[in-house]
Amino acid sequence: MSRSSIRSSTLLFAVLALGSGCSLTSPPPPPSVEVNLLAVNDFHGHIQPTAFTYRNASGEQRSLNAGGIAAISGLLAQMRATDPELLFVGGGDLIGGSPPLSAMWADEPSLQALDLLDLRLSSVGNHELDQGRDELLRQVRGGCRSPRPDQACRFESVHRGIGFTYIAANLVDRQTGARLFPAYRIERVRGAKVAFVGAVVEDLGTLISPRSMQGLRTLDEAEAINAQVPALLAQGVDAIVAVVHQGGATPESHGQPDCRQLSGPIVDVARRLDPRIKVMLSGHTHQGYLCRVGDVLVTQAGSYGRLVTHLTLSIDPARHRLLDVKARNLLVDPRRYPPTAEVAALQRAVEQRSQKLLGRPLARLAVRQVPQAANSAGESPMGNLIADAQLAATAHLGARVALTNPGGIRAGLALEPGQLEVSYGQVASVQPFNNSLTILTLSCASCSSSSGRRTLSGRCSRRHRSATAGTPDGPSAGVSSPAA
Ligand SMILES: [Zn+2]
Repeated sequence: MSRSSIRSSTLLFAVLALGSGCSLTSPPPPPSVEVNLLAVNDFHGHIQPTAFTYRNASGEQRSLNAGGIAAISGLLAQMRATDPELLFVGGGDLIGGSPPLSAMWADEPSLQALDLLDLRLSSVGNHELDQGRDELLRQVRGGCRSPRPDQACRFESVHRGIGFTYIAANLVDRQTGARLFPAYRIERVRGAKVAFVGAVVEDLGTLISPRSMQGLRTLDEAEAINAQVPALLAQGVDAIVAVVHQGGATPESHGQPDCRQLSGPIVDVARRLDPRIKVMLSGHTHQGYLCRVGDVLVTQAGSYGRLVTHLTLSIDPARHRLLDVKARNLLVDPRRYPPTAEVAALQRAVEQRSQKLLGRPLARLAVRQVPQAANSAGESPMGNLIADAQLAATAHLGARVALTNPGGIRAGLALEPGQLEVSYGQVASVQPFNNSLTILTLSCASCSSSSGRRTLSGRCSRRHRSATAGTPDGPSAGVSSPAA
């Protein structure tokens, strides 16, 4: 039955009801099916749990180690015990910018883990493209021809590719306009058809190296998603979920339902979505939220798998309608979710294989810890140590000032009790991007007119000083570090 005929038959029924003098009691609710989704974004190859601090519903600060593939497997197993058809979906940056445990194997163990967790699809994130188009296509399709032969096909001698689908409606070949990945994927659950339409952050070109962007072009996120709607409706989908690797931020807590203070680029994308799209999974900014932008529910599940978003879509398949959406962000607490045997075995194998390299002592610290936390100007002890190290490495080539992007600093350094030297694994976790150092000649004027204005204007004339500068998501000056 077409949409217009549904509408006219409903109208006819209403007229008959009034004409026959029936009482106007509300009609019984239409039969609906529930579709459960579990969404993760910005996993960044975090096979192991990481420290997480948040405020609970009463505003109290809580800290724990959260996330990791083991706990996610336990949580999924628990939820699938009540709904075997639950769909696990991703919001991009699942790989890339990963700690050495995953990065040293070209993220292949993380991809294996996501397959074991039965991930169905993910939008493409900027970090998926850190190593360029060909390497991402290899990771997706399988094979060993890689620009990083020392990492690819080393965890296992063959990389077989992935079982899930990367989707991006707005990532196209610069010359042919052909999409690099499918724009959408349709899932069927208990008779309901749910379409997921993907998009990568539109300013991808400012977030990855020009070489990685070569031959590619991005389109406006909302326009590219909206352009898919007619084809999806023609296929009889009952609900459309946008999955966009772009995000925002809010002062509200990650568990606050219907938060209203979302700001950032994702708000504009949500406002311009086709009105038939009422749910958007976002990412990129590593924030947890469940916000409303007009009629659209916009969610994000923090980062590193420490939070996941559980959404329940109520769908009326007979009328092709999304009736309701409920969402909550769940804390992935390893103490609550014992792992499945196969995911626990994979994690053990990765840890054992990596231990020799990662455990190697690398450097003594003069202090017990070097924190990552930045002040309001974006300056942090860890950032200053990095910039000082970069200056030390390049001073003999004429460098006078070193800069690093706070978005590229992924961890601080801390000695464990009894530990005298930090290990290679700890140091590699701080900046896991295989960055190159770049030396540029800048005038004082260009320093103070760039994004580094606030931190550099007073220092530009001082020699041999280093500082962190730039915005968390912005490009760096001088030394490139990929952003969130
Ligand atoms: Zn991102």
